[in-house]
Amino acid sequence: MSTNEQFIMALDQGTTSSRAIIFNHKGEIEAVAQKDFEQFFPKAGWVEHDPLEIWTSQAAVATEAITRANISADQIAGIGITNQRETTILWDRKTGKPIYKAIVWQDRRTAAYCNELKASGKADLINKKTGLILDAYFSATKIKWILDEVPGARKRAEAGEICFGTVDSWLIWKLSNGAKHFTDITNASRTMLYNIHEHQWDEDLLDLFDIPRAILPEVKASSEVVCTTSGKIFSAKIPIAGIAGDQQAALFGQLCTQKGMVKTTYGTGCFLVMNTGTKPVKSDNKLLTTIAWQIGGEVTYALEGSVFIGGAAIQWLRDGIKIINKANKTEALAKGLADNDGVYFVPALTGLGAPYWDQEARGTFFGITRGTTEAHFARAALEAIAYQVYDVLKAMEKDSKLPTKILKVDGGASANEFLMQFQTDILDCKVQRPEILETTALGAAYLAGLAVGYWKDQEELKNLWKEDKIFTPKMDKEKVKHNLHFWHKAIERTKGWLEN
Ligand code: ADP
Repeated sequence: MSTNEQFIMALDQGTTSSRAIIFNHKGEIEAVAQKDFEQFFPKAGWVEHDPLEIWTSQAAVATEAITRANISADQIAGIGITNQRETTILWDRKTGKPIYKAIVWQDRRTAAYCNELKASGKADLINKKTGLILDAYFSATKIKWILDEVPGARKRAEAGEICFGTVDSWLIWKLSNGAKHFTDITNASRTMLYNIHEHQWDEDLLDLFDIPRAILPEVKASSEVVCTTSGKIFSAKIPIAGIAGDQQAALFGQLCTQKGMVKTTYGTGCFLVMNTGTKPVKSDNKLLTTIAWQIGGEVTYALEGSVFIGGAAIQWLRDGIKIINKANKTEALAKGLADNDGVYFVPALTGLGAPYWDQEARGTFFGITRGTTEAHFARAALEAIAYQVYDVLKAMEKDSKLPTKILKVDGGASANEFLMQFQTDILDCKVQRPEILETTALGAAYLAGLAVGYWKDQEELKNLWKEDKIFTPKMDKEKVKHNLHFWHKAIERTKGWLEN
Protein backbone atom coordinates (compact mmCIF):
# COMPACT_ATOMS: atom_id res chain seq x y z
CA MET A 1 0.00 0.00 0.00
CA SER A 2 1.40 3.45 -0.84
CA THR A 3 1.55 6.12 1.86
CA ASN A 4 -1.21 8.00 0.02
CA GLU A 5 -3.59 5.22 0.91
CA GLN A 6 -2.33 5.01 4.46
CA PHE A 7 -3.02 7.11 7.54
CA ILE A 8 -1.97 7.60 11.15
CA MET A 9 -4.56 7.66 13.91
CA ALA A 10 -4.04 9.70 17.07
CA LEU A 11 -6.02 8.74 20.16
CA ASP A 12 -6.26 11.86 22.31
CA GLN A 13 -7.63 10.85 25.69
CA GLY A 14 -8.29 14.16 27.49
CA THR A 15 -9.71 15.14 30.86
CA THR A 16 -13.24 15.82 29.63
CA SER A 17 -13.40 13.99 26.30
CA SER A 18 -11.89 11.19 24.23
CA ARG A 19 -10.96 12.07 20.69
CA ALA A 20 -9.60 10.26 17.67
CA ILE A 21 -8.03 12.13 14.76
CA ILE A 22 -6.89 10.60 11.50
CA PHE A 23 -3.99 12.29 9.74
CA ASN A 24 -2.89 11.79 6.14
CA HIS A 25 0.65 11.69 4.78
CA LYS A 26 0.73 15.49 4.42
CA GLY A 27 0.01 15.76 8.14
CA GLU A 28 -3.51 17.08 7.44
CA ILE A 29 -6.63 16.10 9.36
CA GLU A 30 -8.84 13.59 7.49
CA ALA A 31 -11.41 12.92 10.18
CA VAL A 32 -12.17 13.69 13.82
CA ALA A 33 -14.51 12.01 16.30
CA GLN A 34 -15.06 13.12 19.87
CA LYS A 35 -17.06 11.95 22.85
CA ASP A 36 -17.44 13.55 26.26
CA PHE A 37 -17.58 11.35 29.35
CA GLU A 38 -18.78 11.74 32.89
CA GLN A 39 -16.89 13.58 35.63
CA PHE A 40 -17.44 12.37 39.18
CA PHE A 41 -17.01 14.68 42.18
CA PRO A 42 -17.77 12.40 45.14
CA LYS A 43 -16.41 14.83 47.77
CA ALA A 44 -14.99 18.34 47.87
CA GLY A 45 -11.66 18.28 46.05
CA TRP A 46 -12.13 14.76 44.68
CA VAL A 47 -12.31 14.12 40.91
CA GLU A 48 -12.82 10.68 39.40
CA HIS A 49 -13.47 9.07 36.02
CA ASP A 50 -14.85 5.66 35.22
CA PRO A 51 -11.94 3.77 33.57
CA LEU A 52 -14.38 1.65 31.59
CA GLU A 53 -16.02 4.75 30.19
CA ILE A 54 -12.60 6.15 29.31
CA TRP A 55 -12.02 2.98 27.33
CA THR A 56 -15.47 2.64 25.72
CA SER A 57 -15.53 6.31 24.68
CA GLN A 58 -12.00 6.04 23.26
CA ALA A 59 -12.76 2.83 21.37
CA ALA A 60 -16.02 4.29 20.02
CA VAL A 61 -14.39 7.44 18.64
CA ALA A 62 -11.56 5.42 17.08
CA THR A 63 -14.08 3.33 15.14
CA GLU A 64 -16.14 6.41 14.28
CA ALA A 65 -13.10 8.29 12.96
CA ILE A 66 -12.19 5.37 10.70
CA THR A 67 -15.75 5.34 9.35
CA ARG A 68 -15.78 9.12 8.89
CA ALA A 69 -12.50 9.01 6.98
CA ASN A 70 -14.11 6.38 4.81
CA ILE A 71 -11.15 4.02 5.14
CA SER A 72 -10.59 0.55 6.54
CA ALA A 73 -8.55 -0.35 9.63
CA ASP A 74 -5.78 -1.93 7.55
CA GLN A 75 -5.09 1.51 6.06
CA ILE A 76 -3.99 2.78 9.49
CA ALA A 77 -0.20 2.47 9.48
CA GLY A 78 0.11 3.25 13.18
CA ILE A 79 -1.62 4.54 16.27
CA GLY A 80 -0.27 7.30 18.50
CA ILE A 81 -1.64 7.67 22.00
CA THR A 82 -1.65 10.90 23.97
CA ASN A 83 -3.42 11.33 27.25
CA GLN A 84 -4.38 13.34 30.31
CA ARG A 85 -1.35 12.86 32.53
CA GLU A 86 -0.96 11.58 36.11
CA THR A 87 -4.51 10.18 36.30
CA THR A 88 -4.23 6.87 38.11
CA ILE A 89 -5.91 3.53 37.38
CA LEU A 90 -5.43 0.19 39.15
CA TRP A 91 -6.93 -2.96 37.70
CA ASP A 92 -7.00 -6.72 38.22
CA ARG A 93 -4.40 -8.41 36.03
CA LYS A 94 -6.60 -11.46 35.44
CA THR A 95 -10.03 -9.99 34.89
CA GLY A 96 -8.96 -6.55 33.61
CA LYS A 97 -11.49 -5.00 35.98
CA PRO A 98 -10.55 -1.69 37.64
CA ILE A 99 -10.39 -2.03 41.43
CA TYR A 100 -11.32 1.61 41.92
CA LYS A 101 -12.34 4.59 39.78
CA ALA A 102 -9.61 6.55 37.98
CA ILE A 103 -8.29 9.23 40.33
CA VAL A 104 -7.89 12.29 38.12
CA TRP A 105 -4.82 14.56 38.18
CA GLN A 106 -6.96 17.40 39.59
CA ASP A 107 -7.93 15.34 42.64
CA ARG A 108 -6.68 16.81 45.96
CA ARG A 109 -7.54 13.95 48.35
CA THR A 110 -3.89 13.24 49.10
CA ALA A 111 -2.90 16.88 49.74
CA ALA A 112 -2.70 16.42 53.53
CA TYR A 113 -0.45 13.38 53.10
CA CYS A 114 1.78 15.43 50.78
CA ASN A 115 2.00 18.13 53.47
CA GLU A 116 3.07 15.49 56.00
CA LEU A 117 5.80 14.32 53.62
CA LYS A 118 6.91 17.92 53.14
CA ALA A 119 7.03 18.43 56.90
CA SER A 120 9.21 15.34 57.25
CA GLY A 121 11.64 16.81 54.72
CA LYS A 122 11.02 14.49 51.76
CA ALA A 123 10.38 17.16 49.11
CA ASP A 124 14.04 17.62 48.18
CA LEU A 125 14.70 13.93 47.68
CA ILE A 126 11.62 13.60 45.48
CA ASN A 127 12.56 16.68 43.48
CA LYS A 128 16.12 15.44 42.94
CA LYS A 129 14.99 12.06 41.65
CA THR A 130 11.85 12.97 39.69
CA GLY A 131 12.25 16.65 38.81
CA LEU A 132 8.75 17.18 40.25
CA ILE A 133 7.48 19.29 43.12
CA LEU A 134 5.96 17.10 45.83
CA ASP A 135 2.23 17.43 45.21
CA ALA A 136 -1.04 15.48 45.18
CA TYR A 137 -1.21 16.18 41.43
CA PHE A 138 1.16 13.31 40.56
CA SER A 139 0.26 9.60 40.57
CA ALA A 140 2.31 8.22 43.48
CA THR A 141 0.12 9.35 46.38
CA LYS A 142 -3.02 8.43 44.41
CA ILE A 143 -1.73 4.87 43.98
CA LYS A 144 -0.92 4.67 47.67
CA TRP A 145 -4.41 5.92 48.53
CA ILE A 146 -6.07 3.16 46.48
CA LEU A 147 -3.77 0.50 47.94
CA ASP A 148 -4.54 1.75 51.46
CA GLU A 149 -8.28 2.21 51.04
CA VAL A 150 -9.52 -0.62 48.83
CA PRO A 151 -9.82 -3.73 51.06
CA GLY A 152 -7.18 -6.33 50.25
CA ALA A 153 -5.63 -4.22 47.48
CA ARG A 154 -2.08 -4.04 48.84
CA LYS A 155 -1.92 -7.79 49.47
CA ARG A 156 -3.12 -8.52 45.96
CA ALA A 157 -0.70 -5.93 44.58
CA GLU A 158 2.20 -7.59 46.39
CA ALA A 159 1.14 -10.95 44.95
CA GLY A 160 1.33 -9.49 41.43
CA GLU A 161 -2.42 -9.58 40.86
CA ILE A 162 -2.86 -5.83 40.29
CA CYS A 163 -1.68 -3.53 37.48
CA PHE A 164 -1.15 0.22 37.83
CA GLY A 165 -1.22 2.49 34.84
CA THR A 166 -1.70 6.06 33.75
CA VAL A 167 -4.32 6.40 31.02
CA ASP A 168 -1.89 5.46 28.22
CA SER A 169 -1.15 2.13 29.98
CA TRP A 170 -4.83 1.43 30.48
CA LEU A 171 -5.59 2.06 26.80
CA ILE A 172 -2.69 -0.13 25.64
CA TRP A 173 -3.87 -2.88 27.98
CA LYS A 174 -7.36 -2.66 26.49
CA LEU A 175 -6.19 -2.27 22.88
CA SER A 176 -3.97 -5.35 23.24
CA ASN A 177 -6.82 -7.22 24.93
CA GLY A 178 -4.90 -7.54 28.18
CA ALA A 179 -1.67 -8.77 26.61
CA LYS A 180 0.60 -5.78 27.28
CA HIS A 181 1.29 -3.71 30.36
CA PHE A 182 3.38 -0.78 29.07
CA THR A 183 3.74 2.94 29.54
CA ASP A 184 6.05 5.46 27.93
CA ILE A 185 8.80 7.45 29.58
CA THR A 186 6.93 10.79 29.48
CA ASN A 187 3.99 9.33 31.37
CA ALA A 188 6.31 7.49 33.74
CA SER A 189 8.03 10.80 34.51
CA ARG A 190 4.74 12.15 35.91
CA THR A 191 4.13 9.38 38.44
CA MET A 192 6.64 10.71 41.02
CA LEU A 193 8.07 7.17 41.09
CA TYR A 194 10.37 7.38 38.08
CA ASN A 195 13.99 8.45 38.32
CA ILE A 196 14.46 10.82 35.39
CA HIS A 197 18.26 10.64 35.60
CA GLU A 198 18.66 6.86 35.81
CA HIS A 199 15.65 6.15 33.58
CA GLN A 200 14.10 3.59 35.88
CA TRP A 201 11.47 3.15 38.56
CA ASP A 202 13.08 4.32 41.78
CA GLU A 203 13.39 1.82 44.65
CA ASP A 204 13.66 4.51 47.34
CA LEU A 205 10.48 6.18 46.15
CA LEU A 206 8.63 2.86 45.89
CA ASP A 207 9.66 2.27 49.53
CA LEU A 208 8.68 5.77 50.60
CA PHE A 209 5.18 5.44 49.12
CA ASP A 210 4.90 1.76 50.02
CA ILE A 211 4.12 0.72 46.46
CA PRO A 212 4.96 -2.83 45.32
CA ARG A 213 7.11 -2.92 42.20
CA ALA A 214 4.95 -5.75 40.78
CA ILE A 215 2.16 -3.33 39.83
CA LEU A 216 4.31 -1.14 37.57
CA PRO A 217 4.20 -1.20 33.77
CA GLU A 218 7.27 -1.67 31.58
CA VAL A 219 8.57 1.69 30.36
CA LYS A 220 8.92 2.20 26.60
CA ALA A 221 10.25 4.98 24.37
CA SER A 222 7.77 7.58 23.06
CA SER A 223 8.30 6.60 19.44
CA GLU A 224 8.56 2.85 18.93
CA VAL A 225 6.26 -0.01 17.96
CA VAL A 226 5.37 -1.41 21.37
CA CYS A 227 2.76 -3.93 20.20
CA THR A 228 -0.23 -4.21 17.88
CA THR A 229 -3.89 -3.90 18.69
CA SER A 230 -5.54 -7.29 19.21
CA GLY A 231 -7.66 -8.70 16.41
CA LYS A 232 -10.72 -8.11 18.60
CA ILE A 233 -10.61 -4.32 18.49
CA PHE A 234 -10.37 -3.38 14.81
CA SER A 235 -10.59 -5.50 11.67
CA ALA A 236 -6.79 -5.27 11.36
CA LYS A 237 -3.92 -5.52 13.87
CA ILE A 238 -2.59 -1.95 14.00
CA PRO A 239 0.85 -1.10 15.46
CA ILE A 240 0.77 1.11 18.55
CA ALA A 241 3.82 3.20 17.76
CA GLY A 242 3.72 6.52 19.63
CA ILE A 243 2.90 7.37 23.24
CA ALA A 244 3.28 10.67 25.08
CA GLY A 245 1.52 12.69 27.76
CA ASP A 246 -0.58 15.54 26.37
CA GLN A 247 1.81 18.46 27.00
CA GLN A 248 4.83 16.54 25.73
CA ALA A 249 2.88 15.46 22.64
CA ALA A 250 1.94 19.11 22.02
CA LEU A 251 5.61 20.11 22.30
CA PHE A 252 6.44 17.53 19.64
CA GLY A 253 3.40 18.48 17.54
CA GLN A 254 4.74 22.03 17.52
CA LEU A 255 8.06 20.56 16.35
CA CYS A 256 9.92 22.12 19.28
CA THR A 257 12.61 19.55 18.65
CA GLN A 258 15.64 21.76 19.30
CA LYS A 259 17.01 22.85 22.66
CA GLY A 260 15.48 26.19 23.69
CA MET A 261 12.29 25.84 21.65
CA VAL A 262 9.15 26.48 23.64
CA LYS A 263 5.38 26.29 23.26
CA THR A 264 2.44 27.66 25.18
CA THR A 265 -1.02 26.14 25.08
CA TYR A 266 -3.69 28.74 25.89
CA GLY A 267 -6.55 26.63 27.24
CA THR A 268 -8.38 26.81 30.56
CA GLY A 269 -4.89 27.20 32.02
CA CYS A 270 -1.75 28.05 30.08
CA PHE A 271 0.83 25.31 29.74
CA LEU A 272 4.39 26.22 28.89
CA VAL A 273 6.94 23.58 27.98
CA MET A 274 10.53 24.22 26.89
CA ASN A 275 12.81 21.67 25.26
CA THR A 276 16.05 21.80 27.26
CA GLY A 277 17.95 19.19 25.26
CA THR A 278 19.50 15.93 26.40
CA LYS A 279 20.32 17.07 29.94
CA PRO A 280 17.77 17.81 32.67
CA VAL A 281 17.76 21.42 33.88
CA LYS A 282 17.16 21.89 37.58
CA SER A 283 14.78 24.72 38.32
CA ASP A 284 15.47 27.42 40.89
CA ASN A 285 12.07 28.92 40.16
CA LYS A 286 9.83 25.99 41.12
CA LEU A 287 9.21 24.84 37.57
CA LEU A 288 9.04 21.12 36.83
CA THR A 289 11.88 19.23 35.22
CA THR A 290 10.38 16.47 33.13
CA ILE A 291 10.99 14.17 30.19
CA ALA A 292 9.94 15.55 26.81
CA TRP A 293 10.28 12.25 24.93
CA GLN A 294 12.56 9.37 24.10
CA ILE A 295 13.25 8.62 20.46
CA GLY A 296 15.62 5.76 19.79
CA GLY A 297 18.03 5.67 22.74
CA GLU A 298 18.00 9.43 23.22
CA VAL A 299 16.04 11.06 26.02
CA THR A 300 15.10 14.74 25.65
CA TYR A 301 14.20 16.80 28.70
CA ALA A 302 11.88 19.74 29.27
CA LEU A 303 11.03 22.45 31.76
CA GLU A 304 7.36 22.94 32.42
CA GLY A 305 5.32 25.66 34.08
CA SER A 306 1.60 26.32 34.17
CA VAL A 307 -0.66 29.27 34.70
CA PHE A 308 -3.78 28.11 36.58
CA ILE A 309 -6.17 30.72 35.19
CA GLY A 310 -5.65 31.41 31.49
CA GLY A 311 -8.74 31.11 29.28
CA ALA A 312 -10.62 30.49 32.52
CA ALA A 313 -10.38 34.25 33.18
CA ILE A 314 -12.38 34.74 29.99
CA GLN A 315 -14.82 32.00 31.01
CA TRP A 316 -15.36 33.93 34.24
CA LEU A 317 -16.11 37.15 32.32
CA ARG A 318 -18.65 35.15 30.33
CA ASP A 319 -20.23 32.80 32.88
CA GLY A 320 -19.39 34.54 36.17
CA ILE A 321 -19.96 38.27 35.80
CA LYS A 322 -21.55 37.90 32.34
CA ILE A 323 -20.08 40.98 30.66
CA ILE A 324 -19.67 39.01 27.41
CA ASN A 325 -21.69 36.18 25.91
CA LYS A 326 -18.86 34.68 23.84
CA ALA A 327 -15.14 34.32 24.58
CA ASN A 328 -14.14 35.88 21.26
CA LYS A 329 -16.08 39.08 22.09
CA THR A 330 -13.15 40.07 24.30
CA GLU A 331 -11.06 40.69 21.20
CA ALA A 332 -13.21 43.51 19.81
CA LEU A 333 -13.68 45.01 23.28
CA ALA A 334 -9.93 45.06 23.91
CA LYS A 335 -9.11 46.40 20.46
CA GLY A 336 -11.69 49.14 20.94
CA LEU A 337 -9.43 50.74 23.56
CA ALA A 338 -6.20 52.48 22.64
CA ASP A 339 -4.72 51.55 26.01
CA ASN A 340 -5.52 49.67 29.19
CA ASP A 341 -5.90 53.10 30.84
CA GLY A 342 -4.17 51.77 33.94
CA VAL A 343 -6.62 48.92 34.64
CA TYR A 344 -4.98 45.61 35.65
CA PHE A 345 -6.50 42.29 36.65
CA VAL A 346 -4.61 39.64 38.62
CA PRO A 347 -6.70 36.50 38.00
CA ALA A 348 -5.53 34.72 41.17
CA LEU A 349 -8.95 33.07 41.36
CA THR A 350 -7.41 29.91 42.84
CA GLY A 351 -4.22 31.43 44.18
CA LEU A 352 -1.10 31.96 42.08
CA GLY A 353 0.98 29.22 40.46
CA ALA A 354 4.44 29.37 38.85
CA PRO A 355 6.55 31.35 39.38
CA TYR A 356 4.86 33.18 42.32
CA TRP A 357 3.34 30.22 44.22
CA ASP A 358 0.98 31.93 46.61
CA GLN A 359 -2.10 30.01 47.70
CA GLU A 360 -3.41 32.95 49.72
CA ALA A 361 -3.55 35.36 46.77
CA ARG A 362 -6.99 36.12 45.32
CA GLY A 363 -8.22 37.83 42.17
CA THR A 364 -8.09 41.60 42.16
CA PHE A 365 -8.73 44.50 39.76
CA PHE A 366 -6.53 47.57 40.10
CA GLY A 367 -6.74 51.10 38.78
CA ILE A 368 -10.51 51.36 38.37
CA THR A 369 -11.84 54.90 37.81
CA ARG A 370 -15.22 56.34 36.82
CA GLY A 371 -14.16 55.95 33.21
CA THR A 372 -13.68 52.17 33.53
CA THR A 373 -15.99 50.08 31.35
CA GLU A 374 -16.49 46.40 30.59
CA ALA A 375 -14.00 46.84 27.75
CA HIS A 376 -11.30 47.57 30.34
CA PHE A 377 -12.24 44.39 32.19
CA ALA A 378 -11.98 42.35 28.99
CA ARG A 379 -8.70 43.95 28.04
CA ALA A 380 -7.25 43.52 31.53
CA ALA A 381 -8.18 39.80 31.49
CA LEU A 382 -6.48 39.22 28.12
CA GLU A 383 -3.44 41.23 29.14
CA ALA A 384 -3.24 39.22 32.38
CA ILE A 385 -3.00 35.97 30.41
CA ALA A 386 -0.05 37.41 28.48
CA TYR A 387 1.70 38.80 31.60
CA GLN A 388 1.43 35.46 33.38
CA VAL A 389 2.91 33.64 30.39
CA TYR A 390 5.67 36.27 30.33
CA ASP A 391 6.54 35.59 33.98
CA VAL A 392 6.70 31.79 33.51
CA LEU A 393 8.74 32.12 30.34
CA LYS A 394 11.23 34.47 32.03
CA ALA A 395 11.60 31.91 34.85
CA MET A 396 12.30 29.21 32.26
CA GLU A 397 14.88 31.37 30.54
CA LYS A 398 16.57 32.03 33.88
CA ASP A 399 16.70 28.31 34.72
CA SER A 400 17.78 27.10 31.32
CA LYS A 401 19.87 30.14 30.34
CA LEU A 402 18.29 29.75 26.90
CA PRO A 403 16.72 32.89 25.43
CA THR A 404 13.44 32.42 23.55
CA LYS A 405 13.62 33.31 19.89
CA ILE A 406 10.11 32.31 19.03
CA LEU A 407 7.12 31.21 21.07
CA LYS A 408 4.90 28.60 19.42
CA VAL A 409 1.28 28.81 20.49
CA ASP A 410 -1.89 26.72 20.37
CA GLY A 411 -5.07 26.09 22.37
CA GLY A 412 -8.51 27.75 22.23
CA ALA A 413 -7.49 31.25 23.31
CA SER A 414 -4.60 31.42 20.80
CA ALA A 415 -7.32 32.31 18.28
CA ASN A 416 -7.54 35.74 19.94
CA GLU A 417 -5.57 38.16 17.75
CA PHE A 418 -5.39 40.86 20.42
CA LEU A 419 -3.97 38.40 22.92
CA MET A 420 -1.35 37.08 20.49
CA GLN A 421 -0.25 40.58 19.45
CA PHE A 422 -0.08 41.67 23.07
CA GLN A 423 1.92 38.54 23.92
CA THR A 424 4.54 39.20 21.25
CA ASP A 425 4.73 42.87 22.34
CA ILE A 426 5.24 42.06 26.03
CA LEU A 427 7.74 39.26 25.38
CA ASP A 428 9.56 41.11 22.63
CA CYS A 429 9.87 37.85 20.73
CA LYS A 430 7.98 36.37 17.78
CA VAL A 431 4.83 34.37 18.40
CA GLN A 432 3.98 31.70 15.85
CA ARG A 433 0.61 29.99 15.48
CA PRO A 434 0.34 26.81 13.40
CA GLU A 435 -2.41 25.94 10.95
CA ILE A 436 -3.23 22.78 12.86
CA LEU A 437 -4.11 23.77 16.41
CA GLU A 438 -4.61 20.10 17.36
CA THR A 439 -0.95 19.93 18.27
CA THR A 440 -1.44 17.28 20.96
CA ALA A 441 -2.96 14.77 18.55
CA LEU A 442 -0.53 15.84 15.84
CA GLY A 443 2.44 15.17 18.13
CA ALA A 444 1.19 11.67 18.94
CA ALA A 445 0.67 11.05 15.22
CA TYR A 446 4.18 12.33 14.40
CA LEU A 447 5.73 10.06 17.06
CA ALA A 448 3.83 7.03 15.73
CA GLY A 449 4.46 7.88 12.07
CA LEU A 450 8.21 8.14 12.65
CA ALA A 451 8.31 4.77 14.41
CA VAL A 452 6.59 2.89 11.57
CA GLY A 453 8.53 4.73 8.85
CA TYR A 454 5.40 6.48 7.55
CA TRP A 455 7.45 9.67 7.81
CA LYS A 456 11.16 9.23 7.28
CA ASP A 457 12.63 11.60 9.83
CA GLN A 458 12.12 14.87 11.67
CA GLU A 459 13.32 16.78 8.60
CA GLU A 460 10.35 15.46 6.67
CA LEU A 461 8.04 16.58 9.48
CA LYS A 462 9.43 20.11 9.24
CA ASN A 463 8.21 20.29 5.66
CA LEU A 464 4.70 19.26 6.73
CA TRP A 465 4.33 21.73 9.59
CA LYS A 466 2.52 24.84 8.43
CA GLU A 467 2.34 28.25 9.98
CA ASP A 468 -0.99 30.04 10.16
CA LYS A 469 0.34 33.38 11.36
CA ILE A 470 3.39 34.97 12.90
CA PHE A 471 3.06 37.91 15.27
CA THR A 472 5.96 40.35 15.68
CA PRO A 473 6.52 42.96 18.41
CA LYS A 474 5.34 46.49 17.63
CA MET A 475 4.77 48.13 21.00
CA ASP A 476 7.02 50.91 22.19
CA LYS A 477 9.63 49.48 24.61
CA GLU A 478 8.98 52.13 27.25
CA LYS A 479 5.30 51.22 27.17
CA VAL A 480 6.14 47.53 27.68
CA LYS A 481 8.30 48.44 30.66
CA HIS A 482 5.57 50.63 32.09
CA ASN A 483 2.93 47.88 31.77
CA LEU A 484 5.16 45.22 33.30
CA HIS A 485 6.01 47.54 36.17
CA PHE A 486 2.32 47.98 37.02
CA TRP A 487 1.55 44.29 36.49
CA HIS A 488 4.23 43.27 38.97
CA LYS A 489 3.06 45.91 41.41
CA ALA A 490 -0.44 44.42 41.11
CA ILE A 491 0.94 40.91 41.75
CA GLU A 492 2.72 42.10 44.90
CA ARG A 493 -0.44 43.69 46.27
CA THR A 494 -2.45 40.54 45.62
CA LYS A 495 -0.13 38.17 47.46
CA GLY A 496 -1.10 36.82 50.86
CA TRP A 497 -4.61 38.29 50.70
CA LEU A 498 -6.25 35.52 52.73
CA GLU A 499 -5.36 35.18 56.38
CA ASN A 500 -5.23 31.85 58.13
P1 ADP B 1 -9.25 23.27 27.28
O1 ADP B 1 -8.60 22.26 26.40
O2 ADP B 1 -8.49 23.63 28.51
O3 ADP B 1 -10.71 23.01 27.56
P2 ADP B 1 -9.33 24.99 24.92
O4 ADP B 1 -8.00 24.86 24.26
O5 ADP B 1 -10.51 24.35 24.29
O6 ADP B 1 -9.23 24.65 26.47
O7 ADP B 1 -9.62 26.57 25.06
C1 ADP B 1 -10.75 27.03 25.73
C2 ADP B 1 -10.40 28.21 26.61
O8 ADP B 1 -9.99 29.30 25.81
C3 ADP B 1 -11.59 28.69 27.41
O9 ADP B 1 -11.16 28.99 28.71
C4 ADP B 1 -12.07 29.94 26.70
O10 ADP B 1 -12.58 30.89 27.61
C5 ADP B 1 -10.83 30.44 26.02
N1 ADP B 1 -11.10 31.02 24.69
C6 ADP B 1 -11.61 30.41 23.61
N2 ADP B 1 -11.70 31.24 22.56
C7 ADP B 1 -11.21 32.42 22.98
C8 ADP B 1 -11.01 33.70 22.38
N3 ADP B 1 -11.32 33.93 21.10
N4 ADP B 1 -10.47 34.67 23.13
C9 ADP B 1 -10.13 34.46 24.42
N5 ADP B 1 -10.29 33.29 25.03
C10 ADP B 1 -10.82 32.28 24.35
